[in-house]
Amino acid sequence: QSGGYDIDLFVETPDQDFICTVCHGVLKYPVMMSCSHIFCKKCILQWLKRQETCPCCRKDLKGSTLVLMHKLIKMIGRLKIKCKNEVHGCSVTFPLAQREEHVASCQFEMTKCPNEGCTADVLLKDLDAHNQSCQHWKQPCRMGCGTVLTRSNLDEHNCYQELKKEMNAEKETYRTTVAKLRRKIDKMQVVTMKIRRQLNLICDSLDMLDDKESSS
Ligand SMILES: [Zn+2]
Ligand SMILES: [Zn+2]
Ligand SMILES: [Zn+2]
Ligand SMILES: [Zn+2]
Ligand SMILES: [Zn+2]
Repeated sequence: QSGGYDIDLFVETPDQDFICTVCHGVLKYPVMMSCSHIFCKKCILQWLKRQETCPCCRKDLKGSTLVLMHKLIKMIGRLKIKCKNEVHGCSVTFPLAQREEHVASCQFEMTKCPNEGCTADVLLKDLDAHNQSCQHWKQPCRMGCGTVLTRSNLDEHNCYQELKKEMNAEKETYRTTVAKLRRKIDKMQVVTMKIRRQLNLICDSLDMLDDKESSS
């Protein structure tokens, strides 16, 4: 594995001064050796394990210090690079130093579908669309009814409809109760009428008796 950055990553071919002579990539964590040559930190450390001379000038590097080139790191950090997801359609370019920032939000990043049991690899930007058809999609009903919705029960599950059904059933019981009460009232009215008529009859006959008594 190469220690430096892949040259193809950069929008413009980087200056020769930014290239590591060990890995031929762009310097990553460049360090200067006692002979003034600069390499990626990782590259020169690996090189020194095999031989303790400079890969460029062959000078003895035994006991050489590794001086991290902060200014150079900053300069290289300002070089514009392409997104590694260019092959997936990301056309954004940005300074190398902002690479992690971009990758964290790149919509063309390949990601695993988060639904349990699904093995699909999806671009972040397509995740919503995938979710719409993912057979492993699962979610508790938003109405809080406790039902876990899946692709297979989503269409028939309709909390609003269910609520409406319940309310309609309740309305129906109220209606029958009202009708029953009405019928009872009607019956009572009939009975009251009968009693009233009987009372009237009694009154009439009492009157007749009174008349007879007074006339005799
Ligand atoms: Zn290197
Ligand atoms: Zn050297
Ligand atoms: Zn990107
Ligand atoms: Zn999925
Ligand atoms: Zn529900």
